[in-house]
Amino acid sequence: MQRKITQLKQMIADSDNIVFFGGAGVSTESGIPDFRSVDGLYHLKYDYPPETILSHSFFIRYTEQFYEFYRDKMIYEEAKPNITHIKLAELERQKKIRAVVTQNIDGLHQKAGSKNVLELHGSVLRNYCMNCQKHYTIDKIKEGKPIPICECGGLIKPDVVLYEEGLDDSVVSKAIKAISKADILIVGGTSLSVYPAASLIRYYTGNKMILINKSVTSYDSQSDLLIQGGLGEVFANL
Ligand code: ZN
Repeated sequence: MQRKITQLKQMIADSDNIVFFGGAGVSTESGIPDFRSVDGLYHLKYDYPPETILSHSFFIRYTEQFYEFYRDKMIYEEAKPNITHIKLAELERQKKIRAVVTQNIDGLHQKAGSKNVLELHGSVLRNYCMNCQKHYTIDKIKEGKPIPICECGGLIKPDVVLYEEGLDDSVVSKAIKAISKADILIVGGTSLSVYPAASLIRYYTGNKMILINKSVTSYDSQSDLLIQGGLGEVFANL
């Protein structure tokens, strides 16, 4: 593994056009669990699997239950950026990383200092009224129990892409543009099983795709450098 990290270090040193594509594994070391991998736990407390609760139709039909789960399992305000977030922000300041494309909704890349962050699934930090579009901070979600309501009487929704909802076109096109023009694509902390987000890496046309993940992914054979390990361990050594 050390040999591969040295190789990655050299590749990064030689490039000024790197794109990072990340998933839940980026934030697990900040104490934010991947709700997909701990599915079973929720069945003890909730009547539905998280994929059902976090769907658009459930949000509309059972708004109160949605927010109960959401406040309990999706908001981690005390979480701090870890070494991976910090190093990625550092590489952006050094004009090496052009964009961070993330499937996470926790805002930790921005907290670490990254500027060009493309949030495919939105952010828990942004919320808006479905009626008048007024924006609200996360405090409104936490305090507006049981259901956060706008001053106009409209329902407030997190700016998070729920199941059954499409991705934001402008974010997707920016991500495609960055990935397709990238010299190096580093894919980390994602099982590449969540579509359509995962399909975006197909737009990469170069020959320096680095895959860093603890478990096996369906893209392993297509990577140019495969590092099977934790992101923190790799980034701490860069
Ligand atoms: Zn409103």
